[in-house]
Amino acid sequence: MNIASRLKEVSQDKGEKIAYHFLDTSVSYRELDDSVSHFAGGLESLGLKRGDHIALILGNSPHFIIGLYGALRLGLRVIPINPIYTPDEMGYILSNGDVKAVITLDLMVPLMGKLESLLQSVDHVILCESGDDRAKGVDLERIGLLNPKMKSFTNVLSLGGTDFEGAEVAEDDTAIILYTSGTTGKPKGAMLTHKNVYSNAWDVGTYLQMSEQDRVITALPMFHVFCLTVALNAPLMMGATLLIAPKFSPKGIFGLSRMHKPTVFAGVPTMYNFLYQYTDGDPDDLSSLRLCISGGASMPVALLKNFEQKFNVMISEGYGLSEASPVTCFNPLDRPRKPGSIGTSIMSIKNKVVNELGEEVPPGQVGELIVNGPNVMKGYYKMEEETQAAIRDGWLYTGDLARMDEEGYFYIVDRKKELIIVGGFNVYPREIEEVLYDHPEIVEAAVIGVPHPEKGEAVSCYVVRKDPALSEEEVMEYCRERLAKYKLPSSIEFLEELPKNTTGKILRRALKAQVLNP
Ligand code: AMP
Repeated sequence: MNIASRLKEVSQDKGEKIAYHFLDTSVSYRELDDSVSHFAGGLESLGLKRGDHIALILGNSPHFIIGLYGALRLGLRVIPINPIYTPDEMGYILSNGDVKAVITLDLMVPLMGKLESLLQSVDHVILCESGDDRAKGVDLERIGLLNPKMKSFTNVLSLGGTDFEGAEVAEDDTAIILYTSGTTGKPKGAMLTHKNVYSNAWDVGTYLQMSEQDRVITALPMFHVFCLTVALNAPLMMGATLLIAPKFSPKGIFGLSRMHKPTVFAGVPTMYNFLYQYTDGDPDDLSSLRLCISGGASMPVALLKNFEQKFNVMISEGYGLSEASPVTCFNPLDRPRKPGSIGTSIMSIKNKVVNELGEEVPPGQVGELIVNGPNVMKGYYKMEEETQAAIRDGWLYTGDLARMDEEGYFYIVDRKKELIIVGGFNVYPREIEEVLYDHPEIVEAAVIGVPHPEKGEAVSCYVVRKDPALSEEEVMEYCRERLAKYKLPSSIEFLEELPKNTTGKILRRALKAQVLNP
């Protein structure tokens, strides 16, 4: 159960099939597999061995795939890191994660220089050539002298050594450690085993009927688990072709689609919103799509319907979290999909909704969503207490509030921590956001709770509008017609844009910090 061994099987079976297109290169499964073995051999020649930790600080590129699969082939543990993190954020992960080696781009070298004192355990920095003109000014020798810990400066593909065909790994060996901020405190490293990573990609690929006929757009950031499992590992396991976008832009997606006729797109709701609002694209360019996959945040029902109508394609919304590798639910393809729902439990995974005592509640009732299956992480790296709080009796407590209907479809109500309590009444921000998204002049919306002297908390709405003439009073009147009195916003503010993370998820917590501490 190692996705790197699965890649070898696929390459032996269909070696000439194109594994990915990236800019103007097309690479077959055989070529990809050879690069992976070669790179694994290079890592071995540096003295790295099974169980060592290696970080990937890379954007969307073939380097990421070769780095990931090469390291896993050797039995290393991979820690993907968002390349736009600050030196402090990266330094924390490198040191907490006991990282021995880093794979990054030549362009990142100046940042590595700043990390000097934080790179306590890092013995090797392996550089990939970006081909970018800005990299020409980077003085590698000097940085190497500055930091003797950086022993190797090597192009990822020309790293020497004997090709390495595959280490013996146990299914419970950690394969990937994902640093996730969770709900509070410092980021925690969710340890995903080979079994977790393999089984979830396999389950997703099977449930969403991915096959070698598919061409999947890989535009979500590869360091994020949604992309890793759904738009990278699952399609590669099934012998599909990846269409790698260096980053997401509507123009880029329309261009890629014209050229390669994709069949599957995976994105977070804001990406769907950008594609829907983009006026320079011809909807026909996306007509080859058989399936759009949404996850990472709730998909507003109005957007789902508008998008499906405009592009004549079905969106299947799913749900997941880093600690569950990540997917636990998707809307099925062979039964009706329900807008607003995250669908049903996929394959070998069980989901249930429980009360404060951990007891299952009847359909229709709201409680915390908990998950059990081969996808649930081993625990948080070096955080026993946090692990015990998150996994109880084999069930992962997600911190998300949900309900299930009579047919086994789940609905995320909201994050437990983001529930707003107005004078004792529960208000779920998502419900108000759904109403706002339904307004034809509203592009995006986020709702948060703010302190209120009498009611404890009040509902505050932040809206990006299409038409600058739209007034606060009009939106308020619109809400009055659709929401119970206690749910009504105490304020509506118009913003140019909403804070988002690099995956494109709207950050209610960042918005709250921005509003409360301007
Ligand atoms: P992460 O670990 O960064 O992938 O974030 C996981 C969190 O994203 C979950 O705990 C949910 O709060 C949220 N999430 C993921 N998918 C959905 C969805 N379809 N609807 C609502 N929230 C979601």
